[in-house]
Amino acid sequence: MAGVKRIVLLGAPGSGKGTQAALLADALGIPAISTGEMLRAAVTAGSELGARVKNIMNAGDLVDDATMADVIRDRLSQGDAVDGFVLDGYPRTMAQAETLASILDAAQQSLDLVIQVEVPEQVLVGRALDRRREDDTEEVMKNRLAVYEEKTTPLVDHYRELELLHRVDGDQSIQEVAAAVLETVGVMV
Ligand code: AMP
Repeated sequence: MAGVKRIVLLGAPGSGKGTQAALLADALGIPAISTGEMLRAAVTAGSELGARVKNIMNAGDLVDDATMADVIRDRLSQGDAVDGFVLDGYPRTMAQAETLASILDAAQQSLDLVIQVEVPEQVLVGRALDRRREDDTEEVMKNRLAVYEEKTTPLVDHYRELELLHRVDGDQSIQEVAAAVLETVGVMV
């Protein structure tokens, strides 16, 4: 699949999609855009956005779609995203998928590929407990999984219908998953 450059990684919390997004972006020489990292940076910087999203993030809930539309529109308008990007953590709702499509459409662009990193639920729970962040209680972690299930899994069907969806087995070592992701994108490993 030569020329693939606008890629979304989908996966539950703990699926390793952030790690894989960074590795893939490096391999392709394009930016990995993590909305979670951008929001965490805003919280750390104490910006107005950070103040607004802090409690929502700590509860494991989703920031509202309108706020996220501003965040992603602004980020995709930056020069380094012109030649492509790997999105990590956006879109997370059907409304966000529509926003993304319309932003790209306005630039006469479109998504090339959506890669779902699949990990069985019991593995996710185990991993999440292992890597738990300071602000992640077990309750918050369970909420993040439930929110993913409710709000984000419909995107799997959506992108399948658009014939953009590819799945990789995320229940392997980081290197094995990375190799499978690269193979999906068509880069020689
Ligand atoms: P992540 O690092 O991708 O798990 O994101 C951490 C937190 O940031 C999430 O639990 C949400 O509260 C918030 N967040 C990140 N991306 C989005 C998004 N696309 N829509 C809504 N909330 C988001």
